[in-house]
Amino acid sequence: MKAFQGEHPQARLIRLGIGDVTQPLAPAIIEALHAAVEEMARTETFRGYGPDAGYDFLIDAIVEHDYRARGIPITSDEVIISDGGKSDSANIQEIFAPDCVVAVTDPVYPVYVDSNVMAGRGGPADASGRYGALVYLPCTVENGFLPALPDRPVDLIYLCYPNNPTGAVMTRETLARWIEYARRHGSVILYDAAYEAYIQDPDVPRSIFEVEGAREVAIEFRSFSKTAGFTGTRCAYTVVPRTVQGRSVSGESVSLNALWLRRQSTKFNSVPYIVQRAAAAVYTPQGRRQVRDGIAFYMENARIIRQGLEGIGLTVYGGRNAPYIWVKTPAGLGSWDFFDKLLNETHVVSTPGAGFGPAGEGYLRLTAFGQRDQTAEAVERIKTRLAL
Ligand code: PLP
Repeated sequence: MKAFQGEHPQARLIRLGIGDVTQPLAPAIIEALHAAVEEMARTETFRGYGPDAGYDFLIDAIVEHDYRARGIPITSDEVIISDGGKSDSANIQEIFAPDCVVAVTDPVYPVYVDSNVMAGRGGPADASGRYGALVYLPCTVENGFLPALPDRPVDLIYLCYPNNPTGAVMTRETLARWIEYARRHGSVILYDAAYEAYIQDPDVPRSIFEVEGAREVAIEFRSFSKTAGFTGTRCAYTVVPRTVQGRSVSGESVSLNALWLRRQSTKFNSVPYIVQRAAAAVYTPQGRRQVRDGIAFYMENARIIRQGLEGIGLTVYGGRNAPYIWVKTPAGLGSWDFFDKLLNETHVVSTPGAGFGPAGEGYLRLTAFGQRDQTAEAVERIKTRLAL
């Protein structure tokens, strides 16, 4: 990108590639931040180290609004606050054995793969960048970007829905099949729901715990990053039900909830008080309204991108229940070829699908997280300047 900008100093690039948000924090959140900062200024209300799992005021709000209100029986001791879905989904593997067999989708959010490779579970890499000891589950147009069950027993399964990068979502029936698989094989599903707030279809589950049996086999990651613009503020949480168990070397049941809390309290000192106060503001009546408006804003961007690209004959997926639009490259073009073409002809920056794994070849990812005028202009440029 730097090279392109260097060679074309006049070009006004529009970045629809990176997955960062662009809208400011909602007023209710800013108000809560200010109030919490004031508390830190007085001896009587100053806070130092907080509870390892997070403050009750935030955990209780999460349990109430994200779970109980949807009829999902999650309890306060099953929610552990953290500084990000990235760190949680990267660190969770530490509570499992080094020789666990790990299944990941292809394409995939690279953190799941890299964290396991760093922990020694990857095995040798081949020329395409695949690791021999990982089980890859291709997500292609043929399977609707929903992977088939592994053809051999695996211990850990990373699933992310709504999906980054494809924008696909998983139905209740499909999730039920995964849960059944995990129960049969003693696997644990690591379910990344970082984009659950973008689900528009009321029939699509927002939490894996909406599906029967999940409490015995799944851990769920959630984040305020994309829900409420916390990418730079940092707050997330992981739900580890009391009922999900691992097995020790000698075959005894081990509480994964206890292990994860132990891991976090050993290596992490929780999230700043002021940030947890900001996150709790997401659940106030004003906060909920404002955050909902923020999601609607990005989903309108998604619609503009999706319909604009479809209008010129491109095939696109996602963007209906997710902030990502997965664009099929025109016939014969690889991901990087189409990336270059888009950059050269329209000065729009995308993300090549091949960067998410071999099955991402032949696709580009665009994001709905841009400013409205920039998103509209990017689509206009693609419509008028792209030579298809
Ligand atoms: N999970 C997925 C699938 C993501 O795409 C992202 C961010 O891009 C995250 C988790 C991490 O979010 P954060 O660490 O900001 O909570």
